[in-house]
Amino acid sequence: MTSTLSYEDLLAAITVDEGREILDPATGEPVGIAPDRTVEDLDAAVARAAAAQPGWAATPDTERCDRLLRAADAVEAAGEQLAVLLSREQGKPLNGPNARFEVGACAAWLRATAATPYPREVLIDDDETHAELTYRPLGVVGAIGPWNWPMMITIWQIAPALRMGNTVVVKPSEYTPLSVLALVRVLTAVLPDDVLTVVPGGREVGSRLAGHADIAKVMFTGSTRTGQSIIRDSADTIKRLTLELGGNDAGIVLPDVDPEAIAENLFWGAFINTGQTCAALKRLYVHTDVYDRVCAALVDVARAAPQGRGLDENNVLGPLQNGAQYEIVRRLVDSATASGATVLLGANPDHDAPGWFYPTTLIADIDNDNPLVTEEQFGPALPIVRYSTVDEAVAMANGLDVGLGASVWSSDRAAAREVAARLEAGTVWINAHGGVHPMIPFGGLKKSGYGLEFGVEGLKSVAAPQVING
Ligand code: NAD
Repeated sequence: MTSTLSYEDLLAAITVDEGREILDPATGEPVGIAPDRTVEDLDAAVARAAAAQPGWAATPDTERCDRLLRAADAVEAAGEQLAVLLSREQGKPLNGPNARFEVGACAAWLRATAATPYPREVLIDDDETHAELTYRPLGVVGAIGPWNWPMMITIWQIAPALRMGNTVVVKPSEYTPLSVLALVRVLTAVLPDDVLTVVPGGREVGSRLAGHADIAKVMFTGSTRTGQSIIRDSADTIKRLTLELGGNDAGIVLPDVDPEAIAENLFWGAFINTGQTCAALKRLYVHTDVYDRVCAALVDVARAAPQGRGLDENNVLGPLQNGAQYEIVRRLVDSATASGATVLLGANPDHDAPGWFYPTTLIADIDNDNPLVTEEQFGPALPIVRYSTVDEAVAMANGLDVGLGASVWSSDRAAAREVAARLEAGTVWINAHGGVHPMIPFGGLKKSGYGLEFGVEGLKSVAAPQVING
């Protein structure tokens, strides 16, 4: 068992004197300086990963699983240090479904990935033919991640890739490199050399990874625009891609709901991680019969959710992670208020206060074509649109070119499932929104991307299918 570093020692192990300065989004205070690597550094990391890959692929699956289990133990042992760093760099509070929850999910996903049945299918087994579909390692997998759930999404990308015998090179977001550096530092203590490497750097490093001849596959989570760029950069090498891109998830509340009973789940579906979640509820469609009561119940729940600095144990909502995201939220809420929509709660941020805090905002009586509805806000502002018929609600929900998640809210499960089947989204939840599970595949439709993560489907997606016939 490796000894666990203190927060200060962990930070000292991953920071440098000159590089990218990371500021706490709640206070503006420095957190640490992350290395800022070049494309040449990336090339060197890929070469080392390629050299290590045959040995890792030859390691029995049981031993690779054992390493993933030990990695989960190591993450748990360093859990508090990782959570504090994540909170300081990303902004999310320690408590609520935030930093400690994210670190816990990393350990849970490592264990679940080790426990997932190895994919292998007997296709035909009779007197004439024995055909099996097996899955070979791909080689070196590149993992490019965003800043909203930096540790958890990195684990989602690397755990299945390692399990299937690939080595991995990670390019974290330039906004949250320290979180990923610290996580990888903890993981590599229990992995063979060069099986897992992290190269913090800017978008040019990501672009090089996408086009690199010795990278077999890119796992990407981030914006649709960057996903399109990765498709272009990877074309020459015919690279495999899993693209988990932006979303603008709709929720449809049917007229038979009990508004007070669903309000808590509705709120967290939209405001988890202060709204900075790909599969958060971003547009809420509520039947006119229950519209006012749903709005009132949401306001009550929202008022009771404290927002502030992440290290304060009391808070469950934090700041936006960066100024660019703050500006997006501000612009979209301003467009809603300028249109005459009703501010039920929030808006009007205090521009003079330190940190990128945008208040929890609920906007009612808003048109479906308002930018706060049609664009991804990725922050703590929920538009609530009134509808009269289910057909109208389904048409509005399906009216955008993204389709990550969606939800239907009803006391009648059969009725909800009927509406769910009509929605163009990779996952439709009923009476909940955004929950993911390591054994349930997750992925988007339309411009939310393609490919599945998690479960057996997730393992297959980081392997090369091969038929053995005979
Ligand atoms: P982003 O696309 O700006 O950045 C993501 C990563 O891509 C970063 O590491 C960045 O450095 C890198 N990158 C930028 N340009 C690149 C290029 N040309 N080639 C290769 N890499 C490049 O996304 P973000 O702002 O960090 O994340 C927010 C977005 O991510 C939102 O749209 C959100 O919905 C989406 N997201 C999706 C999921 C999902 O599972 N579908 C999960 C989380 C976030």
